[in-house]
Amino acid sequence: MATMITEECINCGACEPECPNTAIYAGGVQYEYNGSTFEALSNDFYYIVPEKCTECVGHFDQEQCAAVCPVDCCIPDQNHVEDEAILFERAKSIHAERTFGDLTAANSRFRK
Ligand code: SF4
Ligand code: SF4
Repeated sequence: MATMITEECINCGACEPECPNTAIYAGGVQYEYNGSTFEALSNDFYYIVPEKCTECVGHFDQEQCAAVCPVDCCIPDQNHVEDEAILFERAKSIHAERTFGDLTAANSRFRK
């Protein structure tokens, strides 16, 4: 499932540069997806684009936004439940230029 940012966000900006998929944007900032630009999903808080979030599968062993968030407001979005295979395919699609190896405990939270 995608990760989401709750209204507890204090807009510190710590999470944005940590995302391997550039899925995180500041409130009010338009986001990019598949070469197009879309209106912000939140005007008040940092937000995550579900179509770009892989729960860090393919890259890290845990969600990097959640790992750095000082107020623990990056949480699983129960409205976007997805399995590891779907998330890994998304990672490969987002990074088409890169060759991914197998998923392990080092790059999938599902393997820990
Ligand atoms: S869980 Fe990972 S991929 Fe998803 S928004 Fe957070 S840092 Fe980005
Ligand atoms: S790290 Fe947490 S508090 Fe800071 S901008 Fe990201 S979601 Fe908001």
